[in-house]
Amino acid sequence: MCVMPTRAVTPLEVLRETFGYDDFKGDQERVIRHVVEGGDALVLMPTGGGKSLCYQIPALVRPGVGVVISPLIALMHDQVTALDAVGVRAGYLNSTQSLEEQRRTEQAALDGELDLLYLAPERVGLARTQDFLDRLHVSVFAIDEAHCVSQWGHDFRPDYLRLAVLGERWPDVPRVALTATATRETRSEIVQRLGLEAAHTYVASFDRPNITYRIVPKLQGLDQLVDLIRTEHPGDAGIVYRLSRASVEKTAEALVRQGIEALPYHAGLPSEVRAANQARFLREDGVVMVATIAFGMGIDKPDVRFVAHLDLPRSIEGYYQETGRAGRDGLPATAWMAYGLADVVQQRQLIATSEGDAAHKRRLGHHLDAMLGLCEAMSCRRQVVLEYFGEAAGPCGNCDTCLTPPEAYDGTVAAQKLLSTVVRLRRERNQSFGAGQLIDILLGRRTAKVDQWAHHELSTFGIGTELAEPQWRAVVRHLLAAGALAVSSDHGAITVTDDSWPVLRGERTVQLRQDVVSRARRPSKVDARGAAASRSAAASELSATDRDLFERLRAWRAETAKAAAVPAYVVFPDATLVSIASRRPASTDELSAISGVGAKKLEAYGDEVLLVVAGA
Ligand code: ADP
Ligand code: ZN
Repeated sequence: MCVMPTRAVTPLEVLRETFGYDDFKGDQERVIRHVVEGGDALVLMPTGGGKSLCYQIPALVRPGVGVVISPLIALMHDQVTALDAVGVRAGYLNSTQSLEEQRRTEQAALDGELDLLYLAPERVGLARTQDFLDRLHVSVFAIDEAHCVSQWGHDFRPDYLRLAVLGERWPDVPRVALTATATRETRSEIVQRLGLEAAHTYVASFDRPNITYRIVPKLQGLDQLVDLIRTEHPGDAGIVYRLSRASVEKTAEALVRQGIEALPYHAGLPSEVRAANQARFLREDGVVMVATIAFGMGIDKPDVRFVAHLDLPRSIEGYYQETGRAGRDGLPATAWMAYGLADVVQQRQLIATSEGDAAHKRRLGHHLDAMLGLCEAMSCRRQVVLEYFGEAAGPCGNCDTCLTPPEAYDGTVAAQKLLSTVVRLRRERNQSFGAGQLIDILLGRRTAKVDQWAHHELSTFGIGTELAEPQWRAVVRHLLAAGALAVSSDHGAITVTDDSWPVLRGERTVQLRQDVVSRARRPSKVDARGAAASRSAAASELSATDRDLFERLRAWRAETAKAAAVPAYVVFPDATLVSIASRRPASTDELSAISGVGAKKLEAYGDEVLLVVAGA
């Protein structure tokens, strides 16, 4: 039995009492006020920006049921569980339920027993659903992951095209569309296809200052990854992205052999395995998910402490969306990528052999060029990314190029030696070869393949001994990234381009990045105290004794979450545990003042938490 509020509650009251937060973040307050007053809104915020409250609070303040359209069917159950944990009455309708469950949920909504109802997009087009919505008193329509309406985007869902009906059939219900995809094209496509011309648009900064961005040259990628996890993220939850299903499985197995709790996720696994692995990643502390990009959209686990890429992403959009899954709770997190010559060759070949017309390939090429520009950048990584999204920024102080500025060296002569080898092979022998053979020629190595083709007779044989092989690979990589070399689609043979000639003629110089081979680590207090003391990176700002308390709170949370069969972060997010550990509340009052402790959680867990704190 529910008690209807006897007076109108304000958004701020809901924020404080229900969600336990002190203040709104960024644009939240303006968006919420506008929607509560009945206006439409388009909300562009990065992952972790706090989009959910932008529709959840209007749904709680306005009379009726808030209807949330979400493509993330597998996650609806968890979303509803998390709302339930703070005392918000929520339900969902999707194809995973029995007809009986669906009927019960519909009835609860019609009886005014729900504040929020999650709905799969494919239902909206059905006459049955539309009749149901006619009978329902809808307070607000939220269209989550609104970029799914964009046909050029990477997450297109045809069902999203039907969502224009919401504005046509229920013109008096305010609509709020939300996405973390920032490009101008996507934005205008959302407005046009959803009929949101009258909506106010709110664009947040896309900066994620708590994430440290690092891109390192790939040597032994897997060893580098293990080292990253062992030294900086032991016991932390993380995501490792790989390009292929086979490499996902290989990498997960390798991590497990190293004693790291890792699970695979890709579209080729049976759906039960995928669901079970996803559930473990969400529920347990410190699981590493090794996945293709099939994994991640809508995963709102707030305490993912690192996202690692062992293969080159295809675009900055994809890279930023994937890395954005780290540190949604605002605590320090790492976005780390290892990339090498083979990645560039592979991606260029994938484009050349991809389906689609020339314009499509050109577009893919531009996306990749921007991504490679980021990898080879000598300046602040964050600045490059934000400028790509049209946002002005200064150097950030929290990326590898800011923390350990790379040295530049003049690579013009090296580039000329490489290019002239390519040109000679073509002119004198009518041949083209891959990077390995070119480097063997430059280094003067008498390999079997060199002898077979008599490449030791070329005039450039052995003229490049001033550089070692890894440096030569960096030169090839850089020229490929800059478009001054190309890869043929068939055998990965390297060829010259129009942009090669200015370099060969000395009209253009080539500035190369001296690869920082040693690890550019975040100079955090964790390191200063020694690896043995370091546990979760989330607690890196705590003193040693506070960190002990944090670990005990984590242990209490793990037990509590397990007993209640909910994800650990639904009990309390890391950020709240960190505050509790440092402020050591001694009374219910003091505890309730901590961000993330709302009325319902205070009642459910307050006494236990105070006991854990007192035991210190
Ligand atoms: P998004 O959907 O934009 O990725 P979420 O809505 O999941 O982001 O919010 C990200 C994190 O920030 C969540 O852990 C959420 O509880 C927290 N959060 C949201 N709004 C606030 C606020 N006003 N104060 C403190 N924390 C907040
Ligand atoms: Zn920077």
